[in-house]
Amino acid sequence: MREVDVVVLGCGSGGEVVANTVAAAGLSITVVEAGLVGGTCPYLACVPSKALLLSAAEYRRCGGDAHAAWLRAVRHRDEAARHRDDRPAVEGLEKSGAVLLRGRGRIVGPHEVEVHPPGGQPTRVSWRRALVIGTGSTSAQPAVEGLDGVGAWTSEAALSSAELPRTLVVLGGGAVGCELSQVYSSFGASVTVVEAAPRLLAGEDPWVGDAMSAALRAGGVDVRTGVGVDTAERSPGGQVRLHLSDATTLSADRVLVATGRRPVTSGLGLDVLGLHVQDGEPVLTDARCQVVPGVYAVGDVTGVAPYTHTATYQGRLVADDILGRGHDGSFAAIPRAVYTEPGLLSVGLSEQAARDQGRSVRAATFDVSQTGRAFLHQVTGTMPSAPARLQLLADAVSGVLVGATAFGPGADSWAAELVLAVRAGTHAGTLADVVHAFPAWSEAVQPAAAELAGNLG
Ligand SMILES: Cc1cc2nc3c(=O)[nH]c(=O)nc-3n(C[C@H](O)[C@H](O)[C@H](O)COP(=O)(O)OP(=O)(O)OC[C@H]3O[C@@H](n4cnc5c(N)ncnc54)[C@H](O)[C@@H]3O)c2cc1C
Repeated sequence: MREVDVVVLGCGSGGEVVANTVAAAGLSITVVEAGLVGGTCPYLACVPSKALLLSAAEYRRCGGDAHAAWLRAVRHRDEAARHRDDRPAVEGLEKSGAVLLRGRGRIVGPHEVEVHPPGGQPTRVSWRRALVIGTGSTSAQPAVEGLDGVGAWTSEAALSSAELPRTLVVLGGGAVGCELSQVYSSFGASVTVVEAAPRLLAGEDPWVGDAMSAALRAGGVDVRTGVGVDTAERSPGGQVRLHLSDATTLSADRVLVATGRRPVTSGLGLDVLGLHVQDGEPVLTDARCQVVPGVYAVGDVTGVAPYTHTATYQGRLVADDILGRGHDGSFAAIPRAVYTEPGLLSVGLSEQAARDQGRSVRAATFDVSQTGRAFLHQVTGTMPSAPARLQLLADAVSGVLVGATAFGPGADSWAAELVLAVRAGTHAGTLADVVHAFPAWSEAVQPAAAELAGNLG
């Protein structure tokens, strides 16, 4: 049996950072990966979906033949996803000194993982210093009678297919549902989003969901909120028919299920470590991402903010801890982005979450369409016809920024300073004194911060 310092079980965005960093520092490391090295993000999630969103925006601007534009978009999507070829990632791992074992891994002893390669004999590897669990998440399937039998797409299936359905129903109005709705409707599909919560992007303040609905509707998407799906069936004509809780029926060529993700924990042998984790429940960690001494978890499997940037941050924390320079992570300022056009960047608390926690907060908003930059887009006809708004939230006592929500063109980029402001505990008055370039979208920050400072009394 092979014995190494560190075993990484699941090499997605989080596991890969640990593996590369720890191997480069000279520790011996074995990586166990059942699928593609690099995980979901580069091949089946963030990268292909963002490539499609950029192509869709380009097509909305330039027009032309929708079918040709779609085929071009699929080609660019697949190029961005490296045609799901993980060889460069494997070479990167090997160059840093890590050893890759392809196959599904399972913990079989207090320091031992058994690896089942596809069609091969199981092998075992044991760790001396640390095991890192980075097994990610998988699409959650809603409990809808008949849905299993209608060939519904997950986001992974959609992002691997070249099909452009004429009619598409997207179940779920979270980030993935909103982004993919905009993609398919841009290329001419007739898209309906069905969301059971009263609004899209249900974790954000209500105005955000309303703004996203307005943006998607402006692009032709039919947005149905506050309604669930009771049953699904395939009609004799081959269409999928969905019966909704408001007694209406939808028919479509395809259904895309985007109702959330579940941590991958089943069959991992966590009980061998004395951990009792229910199927689909996260592996809980401390602020250094440690589960029990010598065992860490990173990424979606931890249930902490399911983004690539969370996974890579946790990967850095774990690598530091293993290498003897550990420190607690700070998870209060993880950005939440939606890359539609217009898009969303939010960080820290929403106003609703603050009130639910019983925190006393003050809020201020600014209409982003009042900036000089928006004026230029309005004159040149390039301003999206959807609301654009910035909301800042400060603790009523200390005056420091505890949340920010930006909805508008390019929000993922220009609002990034608010991530720093929340992370650093910046006072609203200090933020109001920051000078922004003219005519940048970020000019919206100053008047909002000045109003917020004034509201603090
Ligand atoms: C459509 C879509 C779009 C997204 N867009 C964004 C975005 O724009 N920005 C963003 O930040 N996030 C985005 N996300 C979320 C992001 O993809 C995830 O947060 C990120 O990929 C999580 O990384 P991870 O390391 O936790 O897991 P993963 O990348 O999923 O990697 C886990 C790996 O573990 C392997 N594995 C599982 N079980 C075993 C086992 N028993 N043995 C061996 N290997 C195993 C799997 O094969 C997989 O490769 C998106 C998600 C989706 C679905």
